[in-house]
Amino acid sequence: MRPAWLEVNFDALAHNFNLLRAAAGQVQVIGVVKANAYGHGAVEVGKELLRLGAWGLAVATTAEARELRRAGIVARILLMGSLHPQEAQDVVELDLIPSLSTLEAAEALNALGRPLAVHLEFDTGMGRVGFQPEEARMVRERFAHYENLLIQGIYSHFADAEEDEPWTKEQIERFQYVQQVFGPGYFYHLCNTAGVVNYGQYGLSAVRPGIGLYGLLPNLGLRPIARLLAKPTQVKQLPAGRRIGYGGLYTTQGPEWIATLPVGYADGMPRLVFNRATVRYFRAESLEPCVCPVVGRVSMDQITVRLPEPVGLEQVFEVATPDFDPHSSLWGWAELTGSVSYEPAVRLAARLPRVYVRAGEEVARVEPFG
Ligand SMILES: *Cc1c(COP(=O)(O)O)cnc(C)c1O
Repeated sequence: MRPAWLEVNFDALAHNFNLLRAAAGQVQVIGVVKANAYGHGAVEVGKELLRLGAWGLAVATTAEARELRRAGIVARILLMGSLHPQEAQDVVELDLIPSLSTLEAAEALNALGRPLAVHLEFDTGMGRVGFQPEEARMVRERFAHYENLLIQGIYSHFADAEEDEPWTKEQIERFQYVQQVFGPGYFYHLCNTAGVVNYGQYGLSAVRPGIGLYGLLPNLGLRPIARLLAKPTQVKQLPAGRRIGYGGLYTTQGPEWIATLPVGYADGMPRLVFNRATVRYFRAESLEPCVCPVVGRVSMDQITVRLPEPVGLEQVFEVATPDFDPHSSLWGWAELTGSVSYEPAVRLAARLPRVYVRAGEEVARVEPFG
C-alpha cells in the first residue's frame, strides 16, 4: 500500500450521527454521501450510515448512485439537485428517488411508464432549484395527472442556517405554506447540518446532514472522522542555505532535518498552505505531539517538513489531524485558504487509499482504482 492514506474513524461517524439525530428530535436521517461522502469514500461510509440506521442515502449525480448500487447497496437513494429530463432513464435503471423541480423532468419520468416514488423540491429562498411555493397548488394538481409518479417526499434547502436567522425563519414559513397546501402524509425534510444544529425543532420527517456527519464544523461537539496519514519516503540533513521545493520558497537556516512526505496537492492538500501548515507525529510513549512545519511549496505529490530530530521511514505523520487545529486539519486548511471545510474534504483525492476503523480495528480497506 502506498505510504500515504486516509484513515476514517467509524466511531467518530457514529458519534456525529447520533449527536445530529438527537439534535433533530430522533427523526430519520438521510445520510448525504455526495462527492464521495465529502471525500471520505461513499461506499464504505454509506454502508456504515445504513448500519447506524439511516433512512437512506443522498447523492448529487446518477454516477454517484451507480457506484453505490454496484457496491451492492439496495437502500433508498435520493438523487438531489434538479433532475434533468435526460437523466430520467438512469433514475429508473438505478431505482433512485429523484428530486423534481420542473414539470419537464416530471413528464419525462412519467412517460417511461414505470411507477416511481419522487420527492418534490421547493425553493424557499435559496434561488437555485425547486418549484416556487406560490406554485404549490398548481404543482399538486399537475402531479395528480402523472399516473406513474407517486409523491413520497417534499423538501427544501436552507441558504444560511449558520448565520442568517431572519432569512432562515422566512424559509421555514414558506415551507410551512407548502406543507399546508399538500397536507399530512408526506415525508417532509428541510434541515442540512446547520439547520439541524440551529433549528432542530424543524426536523419534520427527516434531516439531511452532510458536513456534520464528517465532523467538520467546530464548537458543536462534532468530531472530524478522518486523518490523512503518511510515512516519510526520505529523511535527510541539509546544511544551511539550501533552498527547498519549487521556487525555493524556503531556505534552511542551519543544518536541518528534512523529511519528504508523499502527499501533495493532487491528494487534496491545498497548494497555498506552504510555509504555514504543520504536520505532526508522536514519539514513542509520548502524548505530546511533535509539530513540524511544512517548508517550501506543496508539490503535486510531495511535501517537505522540518523535523527536530531524525526519524525512521516507519514513522507515521498526521498530515491532517482529526481536530480543528488551525494549521493541520481540514478545517484549518480551509481557514488558511479562505474557504470552508467542505472544500478540502471533497478534494481528498480518489488516489488515496482509505482505511476504515471501528473500535480500534481495521474493518475495511479500499485501494484506489482497485
Ligand atoms: C449538500 C446538501 C445537503 C447537506 O448539507 P450540509 O451542509 O453538508 O449538511 C443537504 N441537502 C441538500 C439539498 C444538499 O445539496
